[in-house]
Amino acid sequence: MTAPSRPRANARQEFLPFAPPLIGEEEINEVVATLRSGWITTGPKTKRFETNIAAYLGASGALALNSCTAALHTALVTLGVGPGDEVITTPLTFAASVNVIEHVGARPVLVDVEADTLNIDTAMVERAITPRTKAIIPVHFAGHPVDLDPLYDAAQRRGLAVLEDAAHALAARYKGRLIGSGENPVAFSFYATKNLTTGEGGMLTGSPEFLERARLISLHGMSRDAWKRYDKGGKWYYEVLYPGFKYNMTDIQAALGLWQLKKLPGFEERRRAVVALYDQAFAQEDALETPVERPEVEHAWHLYVLRLRLEALRIDRDQFIEELTNRNIGTSVHFIPIHLHPYYRDKYAFTPESYPIAYSNYRRMISLPLNVRLSDADVADVIEAVRDVVSEFRR
Ligand SMILES: *Cc1c(COP(=O)(O)O)cnc(C)c1O
Repeated sequence: MTAPSRPRANARQEFLPFAPPLIGEEEINEVVATLRSGWITTGPKTKRFETNIAAYLGASGALALNSCTAALHTALVTLGVGPGDEVITTPLTFAASVNVIEHVGARPVLVDVEADTLNIDTAMVERAITPRTKAIIPVHFAGHPVDLDPLYDAAQRRGLAVLEDAAHALAARYKGRLIGSGENPVAFSFYATKNLTTGEGGMLTGSPEFLERARLISLHGMSRDAWKRYDKGGKWYYEVLYPGFKYNMTDIQAALGLWQLKKLPGFEERRRAVVALYDQAFAQEDALETPVERPEVEHAWHLYVLRLRLEALRIDRDQFIEELTNRNIGTSVHFIPIHLHPYYRDKYAFTPESYPIAYSNYRRMISLPLNVRLSDADVADVIEAVRDVVSEFRR
């Protein structure tokens, strides 16, 4: 690593954060009204948020939870995945997608990614299926839908469950259909950096029967939830049918979500406009590779993952990020592949080359700021900074 250079004279004055949330007065007023209402945990607003999300997606139902991790964990338990089972997923994801497989005592089986979308390679999934395989967790990386048709086809033929990690993919479409609109379980995230935020939060969609079981498992395994017990006419009696979790969403979170959902189409429009500006600026730069959007999908554009052509540069990815930081541009990396993390590396004896496509792309990827708070001037600052670093360090 070289010594960090001094901040540039021509750099923007203020640091540009990578992904701050945009919370409006409507969300703030709704939260305050919730606090004054006497009902702050799971209640009428959570119910309405579930209804509105299901209506937006065209899903038959939705279960609001306190994170996407909780949604994934609840879904695996509901599907009956446990010790002795294998679950296939991608190495290029956030740790939560794989941690939940460990939580239920199953074995994660990683399958490398496609070089263009960086999504799980559906052609390679088939070869990873064994008699122990119980489920597949595709992750819609950056908001670009996984090629679902061959995946569901393989799963159906082998009798496997598919649980989609759609943490990045709210508003994404595959062959015209919104991700989360089907009968299969799909988990969304409303974490602070995601396209729609409730601070912390998540949502599970799926068939009515699946959601009914998931709802019970997500809340102590109780036969009726607090809202029904404490509401007028509610009864005190309940039964514990399973040692369930404490994963419910609060009405304070749902208050944020109700307004964020109304704003989602506008948010997505702005994200697409920023992406168009980046694409246009970087398309002709041979040291840079811009993200793809296949013709059969609509990208949700959670992340803008720029890839460096390292052979065209004199610096590596880490130094490139440092140069952008010196120019007051906040960036991130999505993701440090699962097989490099000490827990997984040591437990499953992975080497970096175990998943060569995930690893080689990890070494050259940078996520640029992509959020709805970016002004055109901010976007221009990012573009100028990236171009400046490329021109200074071109080989
Ligand atoms: C953010 C994220 C999660 C976890 O979401 P939480 O709501 O923070 O639990 C899971 N998978 C992926 C791919 C994510 O990016």
